Amino acid sequence: MGYLVEMGELYLAGNYKREKLAFVRGSGTRLFTEDGEEYLDFTAGIAVCNLGHAHPALVEVLQRQGQRLWHTSNLYYTEPQAKLAKKLVDLTFAEKVFFANSGAEAIEAALKLARRLAFENYGPQKYKFIALENSFHGRTFGALSVTGQPKYWEGFQPLLEGVIFIPPNDLQALETAFSDEVCAMILEPIQGEGGIFPLTKEFLGKVKELCQKFKALLIFDEIQTGIGRTGKLFAYEHFGIEPDILCTSKALANGLPLSAMLAKSEVMQALKPGTHASTFGGNPIACAVALKVLEVVSEKSFLEEVALKGKVLKERLIYLDPEKKIIKEVRGEGLLIGIEFHKPSQPIYETLLKKKILVTQPKPNIIRLTPPLIVNYREFDYFLESLAQSLTGIK
Ligand SMILES: *Cc1c(COP(=O)(O)O)cnc(C)c1O
Repeated sequence: MGYLVEMGELYLAGNYKREKLAFVRGSGTRLFTEDGEEYLDFTAGIAVCNLGHAHPALVEVLQRQGQRLWHTSNLYYTEPQAKLAKKLVDLTFAEKVFFANSGAEAIEAALKLARRLAFENYGPQKYKFIALENSFHGRTFGALSVTGQPKYWEGFQPLLEGVIFIPPNDLQALETAFSDEVCAMILEPIQGEGGIFPLTKEFLGKVKELCQKFKALLIFDEIQTGIGRTGKLFAYEHFGIEPDILCTSKALANGLPLSAMLAKSEVMQALKPGTHASTFGGNPIACAVALKVLEVVSEKSFLEEVALKGKVLKERLIYLDPEKKIIKEVRGEGLLIGIEFHKPSQPIYETLLKKKILVTQPKPNIIRLTPPLIVNYREFDYFLESLAQSLTGIK
């Protein structure tokens, strides 16, 4: 065990189940330990480093902005924040942007905005949220309250009042849940931490229809699915419907803490001066990097490439076990892929780790692949070969 791991174990809070691995450097799809061992990173820091580690164009922007301006507070405008907001508006349905620092903070902002708008337009009785079972929206009290996985609530209750949970893709439950008391429905178009479960077009169409009928806002949590991960800049584009509010974070600044809540002007206007704020939100360095991220990722050819790579990887994964003896299902869109096994996937995870490949396990029988979007086909070869070997191990 290396000295960094030992030090970490001594001094860091024990809230993470960490590998006994410490990385000191990254480049592209690779991470390097303190002893110089090289790992193939199919986690990308949990769908964060979409352009890989130490991307030269991002490093350059980071250094340039580091010499110009770090922070002013939101009492003033800054160049990177204004330009990034414009870029996000140009690329999406949105007209206004609020910046924060993490996924959960963007969710908090969205929940507060939805309540505040409903309060202004209809009064305090329109305060309920509809959320989905098996969802994940973050760990702060508000975000946790709309997270549909009771294991995360244990010991932290009481949570926020007025949240109704329904099973994903259940049209009947959806209709039953709606009423005039609902101010918003929140969902991930593809559930990420839940194990890569996509919502159906039919379900999302009905969600949109009911939101309009009951004058509730539709909040898309695209914290994991956004920034090119699924082969579109944002996953809502796959479904042909627009949310009222969209939360993005993770890959937005490729690893610097940044999140954004996007909305139309008529929605965002409910956040009047003093209603909500963040000291670091829209930090100039993070915004400058994010602007460059968006320039690269929003290129049509880049996104098409991601979609193609995702399609190839998924097909090759299915081909590994066409009779579905070991692999139950391969799901996902673009380079957000879940492999569900009939049995616990821990032995496979461990074999991959021994072969110096990093993946994540959102559920005990699901392996999630979120490689940097710049991953290449040779790396797929190596990954698939290694996975095939780890499957024979458990046959
Ligand atoms: C990661 C994630 C969050 C929480 O983001 P944090 O930055 O950890 O607060 C919320 N929603 C989804 C869908 C996520 O994947």
